[in-house]
Amino acid sequence: MVGAGAAGLSAGLTLARARRTTLIIDAGQQSNLAAPDIGGLLGHDRQAPARFYAAGRVELAAYPYVESRPGEVARGEHEDDGGFAVTLSDGRRERARSIVLAPGMDYRYPRLPGMDERWGSSVFHCPFCRGWEVSDRPLGVLADGAVGVHGALNLRAWSDRITLLTNGSGKLTDEQRERLVAGGVGVDERPIAALDGPGAELRSVVFAGGGELAVGALLVKTVLHQRSSLAGDLGATVIEPDEMLSVEAIKVDAMQRTGVPGLYAAGDAATSVPPSMAAAVASGHLAGASAAVGLAAGY
Ligand SMILES: Cc1cc2nc3c(=O)[nH]c(=O)nc-3n(C[C@H](O)[C@H](O)[C@H](O)COP(=O)(O)OP(=O)(O)OC[C@H]3O[C@@H](n4cnc5c(N)ncnc54)[C@H](O)[C@@H]3O)c2cc1C
Repeated sequence: MVGAGAAGLSAGLTLARARRTTLIIDAGQQSNLAAPDIGGLLGHDRQAPARFYAAGRVELAAYPYVESRPGEVARGEHEDDGGFAVTLSDGRRERARSIVLAPGMDYRYPRLPGMDERWGSSVFHCPFCRGWEVSDRPLGVLADGAVGVHGALNLRAWSDRITLLTNGSGKLTDEQRERLVAGGVGVDERPIAALDGPGAELRSVVFAGGGELAVGALLVKTVLHQRSSLAGDLGATVIEPDEMLSVEAIKVDAMQRTGVPGLYAAGDAATSVPPSMAAAVASGHLAGASAAVGLAAGY
């Protein structure tokens, strides 16, 4: 198992309960650790992410079939016997009959001064994760084109003061502008210089040409990229992001199989739906079950 976030822990639990000897190697960089809490995961709503992962690790430790180890898988390759070998960044090598890839994704958002320190709290990518917490504030949406229009109109569920900020991209069409205005959404197309506010809070967006707009939180378009070349190196197909979903995902079938015998992928790294903790838990469970079935079938 590569990765022990929601997907990897869920796959590990399924494999442990199927009595499959499982080594979980995890670099400990779960993507939502930047956020104060988890929104929208049944049974764990508004719980701190670190608490969720700690509880998952305790559940797994109760099974004798699982070894969890901190570390990073640097390389992977096929063995002549049909299995796999991986090399960790500390140089150690491990062999496995099957691999579940659950490494999460690199969430890339626009690089603007003031963004990093607010990422996960007043700057967010998913209204279903964070919208509740920032409800009724004046909200900005930093995006353009069809994604920006969709994001801004959708965000009206959480506030009636929404402004689409295109950061000078010039990509909005007249028809899109009209739809936004008709929907009660403000449009500001000025280039942005920085975000401002105390600590992780956001008070305003400051424009490059001077002036600012009061904004209490900002939804930003985010593109998810693979964190390493591991999936491709092992023969999996990686799909280019499209405009609406924007995820460079590992291609899998409905049972999380990559098409490479013995290689499965789950969580953000293999998602074809908007990424979430719930989706990661579900796909991890499927990947674990698929791997167990594959092992029983002789992969
Ligand atoms: C800021 C932020 C806030 C979010 N808030 C919410 C929310 O409130 N509600 C919600 O439903 N969703 C939320 N999400 C989305 C949610 O966090 C993800 O969908 C979910 O964490 C994906 O789980 P995962 O197991 O696929 O990946 P991750 O949780 O990212 O875990 C992957 C793990 O694999 C490790 N890893 C990566 N590469 C290697 C390697 N080569 N070797 C070993 N280990 C490796 C990583 O270090 C990490 O520990 C948020 C995302 C972000 C970025």
